[in-house]
Amino acid sequence: TAELISGTQIRKEILAELAEEVRKMKAKHGRGPGLVTILVGENPASISYVTLKIKTAEELGFHEVQDSQPVDISEADLLALIDKYNNDPTIDGILVQLPIPKHIDEKKVLNAIDPDKDVDGFHPVNVGRLMIGGSEVKYPPCTPAGIQELIVRSGTETSGAEVVVVGRSNIVGKPIAMMMAQKGPGANSTVTIVHTRTKDLAAHCKRADILIVAAGVPDLVKPEWIKPGATVIDVGVNRVGVNETTGKAILKGDVDFEEAKKIAGKITPVPGGVGPMTIAMLMKNTVKSAWLRLE
Ligand code: NAD
Repeated sequence: TAELISGTQIRKEILAELAEEVRKMKAKHGRGPGLVTILVGENPASISYVTLKIKTAEELGFHEVQDSQPVDISEADLLALIDKYNNDPTIDGILVQLPIPKHIDEKKVLNAIDPDKDVDGFHPVNVGRLMIGGSEVKYPPCTPAGIQELIVRSGTETSGAEVVVVGRSNIVGKPIAMMMAQKGPGANSTVTIVHTRTKDLAAHCKRADILIVAAGVPDLVKPEWIKPGATVIDVGVNRVGVNETTGKAILKGDVDFEEAKKIAGKITPVPGGVGPMTIAMLMKNTVKSAWLRLE
């Protein structure tokens, strides 16, 4: 059976490395990274995401600001707030928790964040930098960056490998495909992107040495589509029911895990695979931003 790639474990390693870097930064510069999360309104899911980010940032010794704004804040006021943090030299990362209320233009708000403080990596400038590659890349988007870490830290050879990415979204499919095709360590792969209009999904998947699935369709990838020994990264998070005793959602990936693990060489579970990596990579981007600002 396949070796399990544990995002939970790899996340711990990354956070320990980052905590060490923050200690060095504080000793040298008298401050750690500064991260602000702007939360508009009181969406319960948003509150829980923000709480998790803040908790992780605090554990790492970040200087952390949580800025909660009323649901009826005007677009102008929100833009002014972003501008304030853009100009604050102690703030290295600015996050606006989505979704934001409909009366505010989301694109305008996200584009107002200083690209050098856009630790989510969604600003068009950072998307462009990712496309150019190499040392141009400042803040790779967090979920794709987490996927690449899992591939590299699991000891999977990427150079010359056939990578098939299922899905072409702006937050996962497109960026991870670009990252794996770039020149450099942890990349240099031959990449195919497949999606809803692809004619023979199975045939493409069967060629993959590394199969990255981000479709959001439970059990989309059948075990017979997996090349024996392949590394399988399952990004999908699908709520397929509720556990009656705990009341918690039952989560499933896009790959039939139980069968796939008999064929794959390495595989990520859901939950506990890609999921735990995203916040870790957000912290990594913020630490990088702080170093760039301080040195
Ligand atoms: P999306 O809906 O924006 O994109 C899905 C993509 O998959 C589309 O490009 C579509 O063409 C493709 N697709 C859908 N059904 C398909 C099918 N039957 N055959 C082939 N291609 C198909 O989704 P997203 O934002 O990219 O997220 C994908 C999945 O990853 C979701 O389950 C999401 O919850 C999960 N996700 C997890 C994390 C995390 O763990 N941190 C982060 C982001 C997304």
